[in-house]
Amino acid sequence: MPAKDIVIIGGGPAGLAAGLYAVRAGMETLLIEKLSPGGQAILAERIENYPGFPEGISGGDLMGRMEKQARGLGLEIVSGEAIGIVQSAKLKVKSEKIIRTTDKEYGALAVIVASGAEARRLQVPGEEELRGKGVSYCATCDGPFFSDQDIVVIGGGDTAVEEALFLTKFAKKVTIIHRRDRLRATKILQQRALANKKIGFIWKSVVTKILGDGTVEGARVRDVKTGKVVDVPCRGVFVAAGITPNTEFLKGLVDMAGEGYILTDEDMRTSQEGIYACGDCRWKLLRQVVTACGEGALAAFAATKYVEELKWVSY
Ligand code: NAP
Repeated sequence: MPAKDIVIIGGGPAGLAAGLYAVRAGMETLLIEKLSPGGQAILAERIENYPGFPEGISGGDLMGRMEKQARGLGLEIVSGEAIGIVQSAKLKVKSEKIIRTTDKEYGALAVIVASGAEARRLQVPGEEELRGKGVSYCATCDGPFFSDQDIVVIGGGDTAVEEALFLTKFAKKVTIIHRRDRLRATKILQQRALANKKIGFIWKSVVTKILGDGTVEGARVRDVKTGKVVDVPCRGVFVAAGITPNTEFLKGLVDMAGEGYILTDEDMRTSQEGIYACGDCRWKLLRQVVTACGEGALAAFAATKYVEELKWVSY
């Protein structure tokens, strides 16, 4: 298969926005997506900070629209999981990159990495064993299974608070367990959670074990100040303790920071010529759909310029 101009890895808002901009710029573009397009945003029950939707919009609806728009303009989307990018002076086209997936290889002149992030594991006993048996990382997916039950949510960021608010629709009671004495989440979400009678809080505490034999029966919680340990009975444990970037396949190739977030310049260029990064996998301050889209557009613009320069057709 001849090399594409641009291959995009990941079909969340950053990848889809990059795809839309790249095809509109006349680039032969292919997007590789591991699951189905939409990314983590698809899991959001309602997104109320994406401009243009004053009533809010479900993550699924918004991402479905983005996918439809990009495909409608000619973006080709294939299934696959990227496992590496190879650059070799031995290749016929010197600046070509080979994107390896679990079952195929694709050639490209430029690559845009928009591989996103996934929920961080707590790494406590019981978490893996009881995953899917009461332990969940997605309230919109699993919330309805916990009708009239006691649930705990672990974390204090936007995801934890949004998930807790969503879960109050089903649960008898939702307890947020947070390791500090104040939430990290946006003020408006904090206010809603603090005012919600179905939500309780256990502050300055961490979960050290998820209890249960076959299904979740509780969470063992340790107060980080006093060291006191209590068992909190519950049928569901929703882990919302942050995210880790899906960048394992790029380790050693591009510069990274923290837990593997890709470092870029302000035009989304990574430390490797011809490789760009955008969205949640990138080292940055604000991870939102709106920033992912903006970065996707920038990455596509910069990658297009790069490809046009390689082909001697830049303006
Ligand atoms: P986050 O903002 O990194 O928050 C993670 C939370 O989990 C923090 O409160 C952190 O505590 C806690 N935590 C981290 N490791 C822990 C551990 N091992 N044990 C217990 N608690 C732990 O992650 P997020 O809430 O998933 O959000 C990720 C990004 O997406 C953020 O940029 C967020 O703004 C964005 N987001 C936005 C929206 C929205 O705009 N509506 C919705 C969802 C997510 P500390 O506070 O003590 O560090």
